[in-house]
Formats: sequence, structure tokens, C-alpha cells
Amino acid sequence: MSMQDDIERRCLVEAVEDGMATAQLRRQHKATGDLAVESLPTVYRGTVFRSALEASWAATLDSLGIAWEYEPEPVTLPSGARYLPDFRLPEIGAWLEVKGDGVPRVEKAIEFGKHLACDCPRFACTCRWPGGELVLIGHPPRPFHPDLFPSDYDHRPYWAKAIASRNHGGHPSWTSTRGTRAWLGHCPACQRATWFDSPHCRACKHRLVGAHGLESGNTEIRFMRITGIAAPKDPAPDDNPAA
Ligand SMILES: [Zn+2]
Ligand SMILES: [Zn+2]
Repeated sequence: MSMQDDIERRCLVEAVEDGMATAQLRRQHKATGDLAVESLPTVYRGTVFRSALEASWAATLDSLGIAWEYEPEPVTLPSGARYLPDFRLPEIGAWLEVKGDGVPRVEKAIEFGKHLACDCPRFACTCRWPGGELVLIGHPPRPFHPDLFPSDYDHRPYWAKAIASRNHGGHPSWTSTRGTRAWLGHCPACQRATWFDSPHCRACKHRLVGAHGLESGNTEIRFMRITGIAAPKDPAPDDNPAA
């Protein structure tokens, strides 16, 4: 067996183990069975996430090669409020707060972002991380639209594309708590994927010239949706002999 085969086999075993652990967790979580899959506890790479959306962000960060730590440590904000950020991204001096649909509160993440931002002049920052540490808010993925299929799918009927786009993970969507635009891109100097909101790479401070990367919702980046088991469906009328 080649090394590549071995890695693939181990990934598959891990995915099955994650899936079984997720199913187990959700059985214990029955009381909230009417919640959307996005907000159910989910296991990914052996880590228990509070929601499938958070697990999906972890998988998306993995697909980009961005190192993450989930819920690393609670912090006390200047206002005295306690706050547990969702992700620390230790190699790029950033944090990511995941917000689902129906959970619009981001005040703590915004306060945390203000607290970590530095006061240096924009082009004369001497901090370890350009502009200080960056706090990002991860939003639900922007759906993949059936109209956006490449032209070699033109012969497929629209309904088939609509089904395929529902199964597509969509595209990651984010905002910066600094109120500036944040691009996702690769640094040509250190090769890391990182968010940029200044001309400098967050990891190695290399100064870039020109475009810094892709904007939130860009269709070139795929959101890696982890759903675990599907929510139980109501039986179709044909499946019910009594109907
Ligand atoms: Zn600074
Ligand atoms: Zn770099």
C-alpha cells in the first residue's frame, strides 16, 4: 500500500469515527431534535464542536492550510464581560467567531477585535502581527448558485444543477471586526494562506504589492460543509402503508 493510499485510508477511518461519535452525541441531544443540522453538536477530527457550522469552519480552515485551535481559552473583555472565542488561528495572529443564521449577536467579538487592534500608524506598525491581532466573524456560507456552473455543465437540466448546488458546501463568507475589508490569499514569501487587511502578510510581515487575495463569498473558495447524519425526515406518503 502506498503512503498516499495509507493516508487516504486513515482519513476515511477518521471520518467514520467522527460520524459515529457525532451520531452518539446527537442521540444524547434528542431534546433539541427540531434544531437545524447546522446547530447540532458535531465531531470533526476527534474534536467535539457545538455546531455543524463550527465543524465546517474547522474543515474549511484545514482545506486552506490554516492552523486552528477550537475554543482555546476564555478571555475577560475591557467591559468585564467573559468571552470564549470559537477559534484561535495561532500562525496568523487571528481569531474567528462563527455566527449562524438566527444568532446575530457579535458584540463580544467586536469588543475583542477593538481590544486587540493596535494604534500604530497604518504603514508604520511595529507589532508582532500587522495592525495587532485580527478578529474575524465567520458567517453562514454563501450558497452556490445553479447559474454559476461551468459551461461544460450547460447540457444538464436546471433541476439537476439545483440539486447539485444544494449539496455543494457554498463559499466561505466573513467580515472583519475592524470594519475594514479582509482578503483571503496566499503569501508569496511564506506560502501561508492568511487573511490580509493591510499590505503585510500576517504571518511573516512580507509586504505585498497589488491584490491581496479573494473577497468574502468568492466562488473560488469552497466551504467544506460537515453535516454528520442527516436530520430524520417525515416519511413520504408512499412509505406509509396506513395512508
Ligand atoms: Zn501595531
Ligand atoms: Zn508571509
